[in-house]
Amino acid sequence: LRANFSVIQKETGFVNGLIAVLHDITDQEKIEAERREFVANVSHELRTPLTTMRSYLEALADGAWKDEEIAPNFLEVTRTETERMIRLVNDLLQLSKLDSTDYRLSKEWVNFVDFFDRIIDRFEMAKDQNVSFRRKLPSHAIFVEIDEDKMTQVLYNIISNALKYSPEGGQVTFSIKEEEEKIIVSVSDEGVGIPKENIGKIFDRFYRVDKARTRKLGGTGLGLAIAKEMVYVHGGMIWAESEEGKGTEVSFSLPYEQSEEDEWS
Ligand code: ADP
Repeated sequence: LRANFSVIQKETGFVNGLIAVLHDITDQEKIEAERREFVANVSHELRTPLTTMRSYLEALADGAWKDEEIAPNFLEVTRTETERMIRLVNDLLQLSKLDSTDYRLSKEWVNFVDFFDRIIDRFEMAKDQNVSFRRKLPSHAIFVEIDEDKMTQVLYNIISNALKYSPEGGQVTFSIKEEEEKIIVSVSDEGVGIPKENIGKIFDRFYRVDKARTRKLGGTGLGLAIAKEMVYVHGGMIWAESEEGKGTEVSFSLPYEQSEEDEWS
């Protein structure tokens, strides 16, 4: 709903009335506005690496290619920018698949504790930072019906952020909590945190708290938007809690029915 207010003022200057006109913005208009903003964002995000590449390639063509010190450096920049564009286009393809109406999940019953544990193992093997991992996982199996590939992507996006924003020597904690009819999966870090006023926006497409900084870290601003869509199609919710300078915790829920078998085992 959009409201326009007009103040009725007499020549004396006294206000003696107020007219409020309420417009119902149709869903169609809203979708159209969002679509336009999305296209503008995509164009901007692609133009930045392309213009960077153009100037480096021009410099190389103008003679920098002959310089053994400069040339490899300039080529490296163009390679990094190409990588960024590939990541961006891959993320966009994922989002457009999620947006299409005939979207299908291929769900299977999975023990989420093992599944999460294996993903954490992969990150622990690959990490090249001084960050320690702490797992607070139940010792019994928890079976949920998920699309493993999609859920891997959700966890991948959340965990890579936790690592990206972690300080040297920081700790990343992984947990699963059981509640009535749902499980809550959380990843928390001891990183820079997110200002309160921005926390609601981090799941929006292309939203980044600090554009310059996250661009340097190679972010596209789409990781959490993809995670959100993927959690929603599983019937869950996703949210974040954070304190600036202390750290961030990103959590999501998944529907879960505790069966009698689980209770007795
Ligand atoms: P990006 O690709 O830029 O990381 P995301 O959609 O994954 O995009 O995240 C959106 C923004 O949310 C990030 O740019 C960053 O500003 C903020 N953010 C996400 N996770 C964290 C975290 N663990 N700590 C601090 N900031 C975070």
